[in-house]
Amino acid sequence: GAKALGRGVYCFYSEEMTQGARERLEMEARLRAALAQGHLQLFYQPQVEIASGRIVGAEALVRWLDPDEGLIPPARFIPVAEMSGVIGALGQWVMREACRQGQQWRAAGLPELRIAVNVSPREFHLTDVAACAAQALQDSGFPARCLELELTEGALAERPEEARQTLLRLQEVGVHIAVDDFGTGYSSLAHLKRFPIDVLKIDQGFTRDVPHSADDMAISAAIIAMGQRLGLRVLAEGVETAQQLQFLREHGCDLYQGYLCSRPLPAQEFEALLRAGPPEAPPLPGGDFRAL
Ligand code: C2E
Ligand code: MG
Ligand code: MG
Ligand code: MG
Repeated sequence: GAKALGRGVYCFYSEEMTQGARERLEMEARLRAALAQGHLQLFYQPQVEIASGRIVGAEALVRWLDPDEGLIPPARFIPVAEMSGVIGALGQWVMREACRQGQQWRAAGLPELRIAVNVSPREFHLTDVAACAAQALQDSGFPARCLELELTEGALAERPEEARQTLLRLQEVGVHIAVDDFGTGYSSLAHLKRFPIDVLKIDQGFTRDVPHSADDMAISAAIIAMGQRLGLRVLAEGVETAQQLQFLREHGCDLYQGYLCSRPLPAQEFEALLRAGPPEAPPLPGGDFRAL
């Protein structure tokens, strides 16, 4: 009867949740160990100034190099880190490592680079990001003007007044603020005016189908125009083709990131690319370009 069914359903869900919770706990423990054992690594993807073709920055993107599993992409462990709170320690490590690497490149005499670090919503609200950034800068000697923090619209839309206070403190520290995946979240456009933001990163979803989707072209062009009017720099993510780059150039987009220039690279390979300069005519991305 209904009772038996109810019990059955209850047992089914209970087992599912136990299984999910167990997997999450296991992942969480492995992630903590990976962090402690130095199994996390930052890859760097060039940010290119469209007018000059020069690499002027890099986005730091975390990977987990598991001795058994190989390279684990962030999509598989950042959500676990967020849910469990490990994101606090992970985010701190990312910030310190990015500053350390940035300062090492400066010391090696490479042209000045801005390094962008992702800060996820829970990290932004649960930890003292401004204090963490200030400490990482102080310990490494990396200049604040060279550090950029990438926040999503979601992080800013949640408790916006508190978010604004944090951004103002970050502005005092001297770091730059970018809004990541712009156009996909639910932040009010009013935030752009009220928050001390420096860069809009157009989500790769809008870049992907240029020049084939009239809608995406209209949206990209509108974001670029709005950014310009607000005095922000605009960066397009996920640029893979020369046609996409041409479209962005025609509309006055400031910067781009994407496989057209390079996929994210280990620090040493990124440094080699910096020394060599980007390829004159980059090859169109093929199959293995997509593998991390
Ligand atoms: P995101 O910050 O929007 O990063 C851009 C993602 O697009 C990266 O994926 C990058 O490898 C990929 N990408 C770059 N160029 C192209 C392209 O031309 N075509 C395509 N199809 N993709 C491209 P990745 O490295 O797997 O990172 C995924 C997300 O994980 C990031 O999205 C970010 O939200 C998060 N993440 C990565 N590293 C960190 C970190 O250190 N801390 C935190 N909190 N989140 C991170
Ligand atoms: Mg990002
Ligand atoms: Mg993004
Ligand atoms: Mg994204």
